[in-house]
Formats: sequence, structure tokens, C-alpha cells
Amino acid sequence: MDTIKIPAELMPQDGRFGSGPSRVRPEAVAALAKDADEYLGTSHRRPKVRAVVRRLQEGMHELFSLPDDYEILLNNGGATLFWDSLCFGIIRQRSLHLCFGEFSSKFYRAVKEVPHLDEPVLLETPPGTHPVCEAQPGIDTYALTHNETSTGVCMELHRPEGADEDALVVVDATSAAGAMFWDPDEVDIYYFSPQKCFAGDGGLWLGAFSPAAINRIEEIHASSRWIPPTLDMKIALDNSRLNQTYNTPSLATIHLTLSQVDWMLENGGLAWVAGRSAESARIIYGWAEERSFATPFVKDEAKRSPVVATIDFDDAVSADDIAATLRANGIVDTESYRKLGKNQLRVSLFPAIAPEEISALCGCIDFVVERLVG
Ligand SMILES: *Cc1c(COP(=O)(O)O)cnc(C)c1O
Repeated sequence: MDTIKIPAELMPQDGRFGSGPSRVRPEAVAALAKDADEYLGTSHRRPKVRAVVRRLQEGMHELFSLPDDYEILLNNGGATLFWDSLCFGIIRQRSLHLCFGEFSSKFYRAVKEVPHLDEPVLLETPPGTHPVCEAQPGIDTYALTHNETSTGVCMELHRPEGADEDALVVVDATSAAGAMFWDPDEVDIYYFSPQKCFAGDGGLWLGAFSPAAINRIEEIHASSRWIPPTLDMKIALDNSRLNQTYNTPSLATIHLTLSQVDWMLENGGLAWVAGRSAESARIIYGWAEERSFATPFVKDEAKRSPVVATIDFDDAVSADDIAATLRANGIVDTESYRKLGKNQLRVSLFPAIAPEEISALCGCIDFVVERLVG
């Protein structure tokens, strides 16, 4: 398969199709290079960098059409570290988790080990589906995932009916934020890392917080719970209000992410980006449905992700061989999620990737499959 050479006219312009980190737009890299001499290597406590952080917070606020009293918080560590922060600064006693893939399960497992919390409640369904969020008495935090990046399943976000009055809905939106709609009325914390739809780089977490979520931070801060400062939501809140992080962030990540948010807003905001990813999704799922050797992994169309497509392949053709051949031709990171163990490709439909690039990729897969099977 190393010898299969995809003709240049079939190739996408850029070979990066990974579901995280995302392809970064060259314009964003160029903008960083242009500002580098005055921006990189300067203090994150000084007005120049803080102004960039403020623009990023305001840009996110606008992109998500947030109510005035929602705040954008940020700190170092990415979504994975944010889970630990939720364990210390948001979950009061008992959380409920919808688990339907690797990321949602990882958060559940992190909570399960925390000595100061009660055993979390688990609602789980097999990969390719998602559980329904049902309220239970005594749950103070509902943990949802907007898009399960490991399986390509997305879900609609709603407060569970009959939940305790001050229960919070916290949503891992790491791969969904910036390409999927959501209603702030239904969510208290919508958190993500910037290396997916926002095509920045890793290392940071950001989140939109409702007034109820801010109240919870204050409440737990005032309690006797010991909280390590790096995970302390109150410290993150106070710093975010000053357009800073507790310790030094990657200035490059912040700049790249702001470039992407500005690009989204200039082109028409969330409706535009969501439309762009939805168009890529129509292309790849439509392609898979037309091919005898491929099918979308997620059977229910409403749950098929517009940001991460998972495509199953017929036994006659090995998805690993397709991915390896693509990789040998410079088309990288189409391998399925390693722990899922399916004969599958996983393709990112993040906004930085134009729909025409997805069409080109489908053409390349056709070319490769014909030669692998033939
Ligand atoms: C990528 C991803 C994460 C992990 O993000 P990190 O920045 O690597 O911590 C968590 N949840 C989801 C849904 C993701 O897609």
C-alpha cells in the first residue's frame, strides 16, 4: 500500500484532517508571525496581552450570543484539567454523567475517585448512541457532552426536567464549541479547549459561565473544602475578570484562537460556521451512504456529528490500510479513535477545513479503496 500514489489533482490543498488538534488556518499563523515581535515574549499581566485576552472573551460572548450576565472564564490546562477543577470547584456532592464514549467516560472516572464527593451516577449507552438525560433527586451537577469526539455522536442540550432547583448543567463542548448551536438558557457551564473548532493550540480551557455557575463557585469557595490553587475556580474567576490567567498561558494559543473567533464573526458568526461544518457533514455522510464499502457509524441521523465524522468500512477493506495509505500520501490523522476498535475512519469537519477539502478527501479514499481491493 506504500506504493499507491494518489494523483496530485485528487489531493486536498492541506493534508490535515485530525479531530484534535485541528488544522490551523495559515492566515492565523501569519497573523501571529506579524504581531510576534510586539506580542510574544511580553508580559501577560500588561495591557497589550490583556487586551488580546479581553477581545477573545468578548468575541466568544458575541459568537455564542450570551446573555449579559454570562461570563467567559479561562485558565491553563485544557478540558482534561478542567474536569479536575469541576471536581473541586463546582460539584457540591453528587454529579450525574451521560457517558457514550472515551471523553465523557474519562470525566466520570475522574469524579469517581474524588474523596470529598459522593459516588457519581452513571447513565451509559453503547458507542454510536447517547443516553437521555433524566433528572434524579440529590444531583447537583449534570455532566453532558455536546459532541463525543471519540465516536462522532452529538446531542441536543437541555436541562433535565424535574432536576433540583439549583442543579447545574455543565457541558463538555470541546469539539462542538464554535460549530454547533446551543441555548445558554439550557446550560450553566459550556467549556472547551481551543484546539478543535477554534483551531488554536492546546493547553488552555475556556468556558461560558451562567450566574448560577458563578454563584456555585462562590458558595464552594466559602466552604471548608481544600482546593489546590491551580484548580481553584474562584482564582480562575478573579483572574478572568482581569483578562488574565493564574499562571503564565501560551500567548500563541490565545492569539491563534482570537484569529479564529474574529474570522468566524467577520463571516457571519455561529450560523455561518455551523453551516460550513454541516455542509462538510452532508458531503461525507452522503458519500458514505452511496458507497457499497462504507456506512456512517452513527445510525440515527439526528445524532450524527457535524464536526467529527466516523465512517465504518466493509470487512473486505481495512480502514487501517486506508488511513496508512492516506498518511503515506501526506493526508494525516484519519485513523479511528484508538480505543473504539472499529474498522473505521474518523474525519474532522472542523470549520478550518473547507467543505471542498472534504470532497477531495472522499475522492482520495475512493481512489485508495479501488486499488486496495482491486
Ligand atoms: C479533545 C477533547 C477533550 C480533551 O481536551 P484536552 O484539551 O486535550 O484536555 C475533552 N473532551 C472532548 C469532548 C474532546 O474532544
